[in-house]
Amino acid sequence: MSGRPRAVVDGLPQYKPGKSAAQAAADHQLDEAIKLASNESSYGPLPSVLAAIVSEANTLNRYPDHRSQAVRDALANKHSVDVNQVTVGCGSVGLLQQAFMAYVDAGDEVVYPWRSFEVHPVFSAIAEAKAVTVPLNGQSFDLEAVAAAVTDQTKLVILSTPNNPTGTVCSTKDLNHLLESINSEVVVIIDEAYLEFVTDESVANAVTEILPQHSNAAVFRTFSKAYGLANLRVGYAVGHPEVVGAIDKVALPFLVNGLAQTAVLASLEPQAETELKVRVDEVISERSRVSTELEAQGWPVTPSQANFVWLPVEEQAGALFQRLESMGVVTRPFENEGLRVTVGSPAENDRFLEVIGPR
Ligand SMILES: *Cc1c(COP(=O)(O)O)cnc(C)c1O
Repeated sequence: MSGRPRAVVDGLPQYKPGKSAAQAAADHQLDEAIKLASNESSYGPLPSVLAAIVSEANTLNRYPDHRSQAVRDALANKHSVDVNQVTVGCGSVGLLQQAFMAYVDAGDEVVYPWRSFEVHPVFSAIAEAKAVTVPLNGQSFDLEAVAAAVTDQTKLVILSTPNNPTGTVCSTKDLNHLLESINSEVVVIIDEAYLEFVTDESVANAVTEILPQHSNAAVFRTFSKAYGLANLRVGYAVGHPEVVGAIDKVALPFLVNGLAQTAVLASLEPQAETELKVRVDEVISERSRVSTELEAQGWPVTPSQANFVWLPVEEQAGALFQRLESMGVVTRPFENEGLRVTVGSPAENDRFLEVIGPR
């Protein structure tokens, strides 16, 4: 025994990362495998963003700008908000962790629908918070039940929309309705990691359609998914200056590395936006092709607004995952619930569809 971790840390499961494509190929004696497990972009970084990152690489001996000031200015400009309404973090998961540090004491309540993003129970446990989970209604959030779960002890409400792993969204109208019923002392995080893939017209821009009416709402976004920058770890939040200020106070020094800052600035240029649209459009059309073909093969598929599809196969999830992996397609199982499969390139999707076959 070396050291005495806090009891809550002792009780946490050891992180077990998903298998890489190379590891899966080696384990099953295959020439190669593909990974559709982490909702990454299959396309690589945007060409104009990659060029900017490469030209910045010779500054790696210097610490980056601690506050990412140029990035904050550019994001404030993009969203037409004051710069003190924007913060930047080590992925949007890093910002979520900061929100826990800033708001949640031991015994406080944190409300979120479940099944949702796996970090919510982990961050709640580390904070010694009481995690109040609200069951899904089918595969979607039940926002009335979320409202009913909020008490005087609630500090945070976390809503991932589109939800991971079910791919469903909350409409802007429903979110505003929910916020009207929640005490403004409760911070409501609207985690929009997959926003770029949303085509549902009931979803409007939360920054302009929710934040102005609700000072306790905060919108979290990331460059990890559509922008193809998962490896750089950068996301941001937009909210009331007091919320942003609290989140900022607990930031690690030099939190966002300089290559990531350069990448964000390049990502906001018109050239990058044009490059982004081409890929996002392809993912959206592939999402519908994959969903339609899966349904035709007899699989249950939840209509998705993200860059993945959700197969609620329940107790078959584990075996289906194993079978796909043994044939070189690594996906993400949720035991007894379902299988989440990232929408990859057209060739990767073809391979997945061929390997899964009819139910
Ligand atoms: C991927 C993801 C994020 C973003 O993670 P980063 O830390 O920005 O890479 C946030 N929320 C959900 C629900 C996600 O699936």
